[in-house]
Amino acid sequence: MVSYKELGLVNTREMFAKAVDGGYAIPAFNFNNMEQLQAIIQAAAETKSPVILQVSKGARNYANATLLRYMAEGAVAYAKELGWEHPQICLHLDHGDSFETCKSCVDTGFSSVMIDASSLPYEENIALTKKVVEYAHKFDVTVEAELGVLAGVEDEVSAAESHYTKPEEVIDFATRTGCDSLAISIGTSHGAYKFTPEQCTRDPKTGRLIPPPLAFDVLHEIEKKLPGFPIVLHGSSSVPQEYVDMCNKYGGNLPNAVGIPEEQLREAAKSAVCKINIDSDSRLAMTGAIRKYMAENPSHFDPRQYLKPAREEMKKMYIHKIVNVLGSDGKAE
Ligand SMILES: [Zn+2]
Repeated sequence: MVSYKELGLVNTREMFAKAVDGGYAIPAFNFNNMEQLQAIIQAAAETKSPVILQVSKGARNYANATLLRYMAEGAVAYAKELGWEHPQICLHLDHGDSFETCKSCVDTGFSSVMIDASSLPYEENIALTKKVVEYAHKFDVTVEAELGVLAGVEDEVSAAESHYTKPEEVIDFATRTGCDSLAISIGTSHGAYKFTPEQCTRDPKTGRLIPPPLAFDVLHEIEKKLPGFPIVLHGSSSVPQEYVDMCNKYGGNLPNAVGIPEEQLREAAKSAVCKINIDSDSRLAMTGAIRKYMAENPSHFDPRQYLKPAREEMKKMYIHKIVNVLGSDGKAE
């Protein structure tokens, strides 16, 4: 048993309470490798933003769960070395699919876990979520649950159709499970293809796809039912067209990739939404930068040469999200 407290990590309780009060949101960035982790920590340290490091089941399989835990421990020390005196870093399991996975994360130093039982029938979702909450809370680990179904594909999570969260269920669900935060479905979606062209309209000037707006009416109803309760948005990458273009210009093939417009995320961050998950944007920034570097420097073969600009591009993107979209800069001095 390793407690996250020994690793210098924090759970989400205090960061969420402050974010709800302050009208901003905490960035939750996924990582699978060292360059992503460096970019996230550098961005958070420079902007003094609390940050959630997210690890999915796919990331644990890819990088090895033990190694990821030690990387997160290193991240706290690295943040201090960068001059961030009191780093607020949370290590969070993204889309935990069973009690066993959540338990193994709690036991190995995660400070927060998500149990995603949203594909189960309502009563089964409650029962499994409650079981995880009871275990995690013994160790002061916070738990995110999900109600409603998001469309799209992310690692092992996929659904063809979304179902908005039903506001009439949220009080019962939050009370009976004891969860600390709730991921809801209001039209965000996993991956870099959040909407089909048929679901979008087209900008007559640029020909770009404009996605349908998020269901803010559902969000506001949920907020009314659970005043001040931390709400989470998954699948909230914006799929910046500059990165899609960069990929496509240098040999990629990502037609019609489309995400959530940043103005809408900015508006959501001002509400009870206090955690916004961003993964695809980092993948796009990294891939775009690597493709460009390799196309322009065909004789280079040292991975450090192409991973350095990739890391810089990701860091620039993370800082942009923190400062211009979520508003979490300066909240962890
Ligand atoms: Zn997700």
